Amino acid sequence: MTFDQKEEPLWKVSSSDIHEKGIFAAGNISEGTRIIEYIGEKITKAESDRRGLALIEHAKANGGGSVYIFQLNKRYDIDGNVPENLARLINHSCDPNCEAINVRGRIWVVAMRDIVAGEELSYDYGYDIEHFLDHPCRCGSDNCVGYIVSADKRKKLKKILRNRKKRAKRKASKSQN
Ligand SMILES: [Zn+2]
Repeated sequence: MTFDQKEEPLWKVSSSDIHEKGIFAAGNISEGTRIIEYIGEKITKAESDRRGLALIEHAKANGGGSVYIFQLNKRYDIDGNVPENLARLINHSCDPNCEAINVRGRIWVVAMRDIVAGEELSYDYGYDIEHFLDHPCRCGSDNCVGYIVSADKRKKLKKILRNRKKRAKRKASKSQN
């Protein structure tokens, strides 16, 4: 066992094509590796709800806004919106290479598959469909739905988007006649 070996971080911060800054693999990372811990402020569920609502209000007034709150357990959540939590820079992707997993009360970003050096890390933010218009997605993956919503809601979102398109078309043809 070697203790003097300096541990190289598995990741680095760099500018991202998806959104502002992102986290990138500093070397090859194999599937199942815990890459970076998602740290933050431990808050009660009540405080978490309060912050969540405040974010929604803020988004209504100013557009956008990111959610950094993770469920820790039945009583506590973690608010990752703190400067020392660099994992908050990881972008969402509709075809992610990582997932955020709760390991005995700590949130880890874990490789879902082998990742090649230089690849941007991403996970599914798992957003609800309700405010999808506030969260456009530019992940660029083949299956991108254009908005950040959790994988299980993408089918529903596609249907909503199709219907919106149809309605817009009908409106346009009506105004032409
Ligand atoms: Zn996408």
